[in-house]
Amino acid sequence: MQTPRYSVVIPVYNEEETIPDLVKRLREVIDRLDGPTEVVLVDDGSRDRSHELMLAANREDARFKVLQLSRNFGHQNAITAGMDAAHGQAVIIMDADLQDPPEVILQLAARWQEGYEVVYAVREHREGETRFKRTTATLFYGMQRRLAEIEQPVDVGDFRLVDRKALDAFLSMRERNRYVRGMFSWIGFRQAAVPYTRASRHAGQTKYPMRKMIRLAADGFVGFSTAPLRFALAAGVVMALSSVIYGMVAIALKLAGLPYVPGYASLLVTITFLSGVQLIVVGMVGQYVARIYDEVRARPLYLVRDARGFTADSQPPQPADPAERSPENGHAAWPVISQRSVSSDEHVPPTPPRQ
Ligand code: UDP
Ligand code: MG
Repeated sequence: MQTPRYSVVIPVYNEEETIPDLVKRLREVIDRLDGPTEVVLVDDGSRDRSHELMLAANREDARFKVLQLSRNFGHQNAITAGMDAAHGQAVIIMDADLQDPPEVILQLAARWQEGYEVVYAVREHREGETRFKRTTATLFYGMQRRLAEIEQPVDVGDFRLVDRKALDAFLSMRERNRYVRGMFSWIGFRQAAVPYTRASRHAGQTKYPMRKMIRLAADGFVGFSTAPLRFALAAGVVMALSSVIYGMVAIALKLAGLPYVPGYASLLVTITFLSGVQLIVVGMVGQYVARIYDEVRARPLYLVRDARGFTADSQPPQPADPAERSPENGHAAWPVISQRSVSSDEHVPPTPPRQ
């Protein structure tokens, strides 16, 4: 297959109900694109039949390629793995659950042809999302806008098209706590927006439970703002100043011979309040420290268990981080567990254990 003009990167985590429809709708769309297209399906450690179905898609249509990670590394890392493996001139990132309609890809491609290097899709309407999800999303994007040290568009997820130039810039950032949409704002380049209606999930449950959503939000804040640290400092200064003033008032009252009996309640409230504030601040600082620890360990962002459909001349671009290059060939390589399973396309891997 010749070098593709477009790559579509799709992270997949337990999406067996959606994959057949996803493949069908995608094939219709990529047939209409103005150049050869590959689809990189990234199996982020699925435990259902997703991987099987993805391999079936590859057998049926060689434009579908499958990258299987060794376990669940999370949405943001799965996207990165797919982008590392993609080699199109324009790379599109979209979700597997058909919330991002594949047909929008045509509009993204049209803007790219106008010369834009990052074309992101903006959610105009959200269908079938709970009020809770919409409220928390509005709150989060509002706070992000106010606190982040870079300008970030509101209501933009990871659905976007990226030109090779911008993608290479993005891939040179190997930070471990990834907030991909923020990183794309950070790199700059010529950016354009395409509005779309976010559909409801095609089938199955969200793969973003509360825990993962909080984690993503925390990465979004900590990765792009030091405002919480400044806030901690400011709160500390205010507290210290008010306690000095309070002390001086107490001394003045004593010297003036006025009766001054501090109340038990005010004492208790002050102590508990201050210990609470201190714990919050320590926790906040801890968020930054934990991420520093994560970064210095410098583990790979993901590990590949198996790759299917990637031929020798379509190896993924060289990882930007020298630590992730394989020593034996000195060039392009994923951080793989088993080199053999990656190079042999015929090798059918055992299906992962189900739970
Ligand atoms: N996903 C993934 N790894 C994860 C969680 C999610 O690859 O650990 C994928 C998932 O299969 C989907 C996309 O990321 O293609 C977005 O997830 P989801 O639709 O569950 O998120 P939501 O739309 O509910 O925010
Ligand atoms: Mg979804």
